[in-house]
Amino acid sequence: MAKLWASDATKAIDDLLQVFGGYGYIRDYPIARAYADARPNRIYAGTNEIMKEIIARSL
Ligand SMILES: Cc1cc2nc3c(=O)[nH]c(=O)nc-3n(C[C@H](O)[C@H](O)[C@H](O)COP(=O)(O)OP(=O)(O)OC[C@H]3O[C@@H](n4cnc5c(N)ncnc54)[C@H](O)[C@@H]3O)c2cc1C
Repeated sequence: MAKLWASDATKAIDDLLQVFGGYGYIRDYPIARAYADARPNRIYAGTNEIMKEIIARSL
């Protein structure tokens, strides 16, 4: 549950990237790197869809 919550929270970086406009999409800038690093949190160590399946089994 913690992994699902914490990785979903990183979705906020998408809005943050929007603030930076085009710079957010240029690899030279830290915001682009932060976005790239944050995105796989919802994929690795079990995707969030699978996290929900596991959590649902315990309800
Ligand atoms: C950078 C990185 C490092 C990793 N390191 C490791 C590691 O060290 N050790 C390790 O064991 N694994 C590792 N993985 C694998 C990771 O933990 C995930 O298990 C794996 O990426 C998910 O499988 P897949 O990519 O084949 O996606 P798929 O299983 O093909 O899934 C594709 C999409 O379909 C969805 N989906 C699949 N099945 C269902 C379902 N039943 N219901 C709803 N939605 C579903 C998924 O949520 C996903 O969005 C790593 C992955 C990445 C990206």
